[in-house]
Amino acid sequence: MSENKEIIANEEINQEKLQKAVRIIKQLQQELPSWIEKGSGPFLAAIYDENDNLIAKQANSVVSEVCSHNHAEMNTIKAAEKALNTYDLSAHNLRLYVTAEPCMMCLGGIMWSGIKEVYYSVPSKRVEEITGFDEGFKPDWLQEFRKRGIVVYGNIEQKIGEEVLQNYVTAGNTVYQPERK
Ligand SMILES: [Zn+2]
Repeated sequence: MSENKEIIANEEINQEKLQKAVRIIKQLQQELPSWIEKGSGPFLAAIYDENDNLIAKQANSVVSEVCSHNHAEMNTIKAAEKALNTYDLSAHNLRLYVTAEPCMMCLGGIMWSGIKEVYYSVPSKRVEEITGFDEGFKPDWLQEFRKRGIVVYGNIEQKIGEEVLQNYVTAGNTVYQPERK
């Protein structure tokens, strides 16, 4: 297990959950470059059910689909709700895995969806430092999610995740921002 001591969580760390998250997030990180080659942004998310069935997997498509809301988490939640034909995922006990910490918009999307557990790789501060994306302001979100019964584990396989983001920037791909003056 690499980087285990840097993991953050809003409840006591469960090694079985963590091991599973490491495995799934590594898969997402390995797969992400091929999504980027096809025009996706540098973030990939997946939703699994309690029997470890993959329900949905989507990358960021802000640029390719011309929509500022199309972050990986939002796309994946939307696909899961469509697949399960419900706007309330809570009865399905779903877990969301994503290659970077959710931004302020995606925290809202996760809260409204009924997702029960969130696992992410690169923390927002590092995403911002590497790429220049603005992840927004998220005061006490781990505690706020805990209050709502949503489990969060973060910084999983962070180093690999950072490399993928760095490669995205180095290759000259788009880092979009609304213009601010
Ligand atoms: Zn987002």
